[in-house]
Amino acid sequence: MAQDKYKAVWVSHSSMGDFIKCPRAYFLHNVYKDPKTKRKINIVSPPLALGVSVHEVVEGLANFKAEERFKQPLLELYEKAWQKVRGKAGGFKNETDELEAKNRGKEMILRVLRNPGPLLNKALKLKGGDNDMPPNFFLSEEENIILCGKIDWLEYVPEDDSIRVLDFKTGKNEESGESLQLPIYQLLLNKLQKRKVTGAYYWYLDKDDAPIAVELPSVEESYKKVIEVARQVKTARESVVYECPRGKGGCFACKPFEKIIKGEAEYIGVGEYNQDLYMLG
Ligand code: SF4
Repeated sequence: MAQDKYKAVWVSHSSMGDFIKCPRAYFLHNVYKDPKTKRKINIVSPPLALGVSVHEVVEGLANFKAEERFKQPLLELYEKAWQKVRGKAGGFKNETDELEAKNRGKEMILRVLRNPGPLLNKALKLKGGDNDMPPNFFLSEEENIILCGKIDWLEYVPEDDSIRVLDFKTGKNEESGESLQLPIYQLLLNKLQKRKVTGAYYWYLDKDDAPIAVELPSVEESYKKVIEVARQVKTARESVVYECPRGKGGCFACKPFEKIIKGEAEYIGVGEYNQDLYMLG
């Protein structure tokens, strides 16, 4: 019998990343709903605001034909994207902090303009899910677990009809080796398209003029890594047990969310994904 997608446990890079940090942090960010508003909660922050705005502009280039992309007014588009995260909506405490973050993002856009590299080549996209959901598939139909995720950029390589994966990084820190991002990309690509994947790259827009190659784990290895965490998430959700592995006191991963629940954060409004957004003092 076909499984019901609405009853499935959906897992993604960000939700499993929360779970790896701590099951309770996962619960507070991905399951908990404010009893009054019935909405999930999220925290606005300057790094997030910067990341969202830069991604919107750079990833948006894939909507144009290769030869049209760099005729677009990218800095104007960035300005427009920034309007959505201005002031408290982006977690900025003052204009100086906002301007600093905005200028960092602007430098990233300028870097891309000066070094478009792979963005000049034909790009492909994974088909999105129904009802505007991100690309997804049953990681395990038997266990009713769905993996979903978006890939920043897929470069088409005409020489051998293959694709290369590109992920834009706007943060200062390098992606950890433990991250499930590459295994998840491998699984999405293996399931949702037919071409061979001949490379994967991270592009640190804050410091690098070109993407750097990273190794994609094999499909088998990726499946093993991702299903292991996904099963733990499913078990925790079913047993409704999200225990703190470190005892009382709170630590970096849940403190911000606990503050919201205690009423110690400033309410900003309802965000794009129908979450109640808060800013921490
Ligand atoms: S304090 Fe405990 S519950 Fe909170 S994030 Fe840290 S480990 Fe998790």
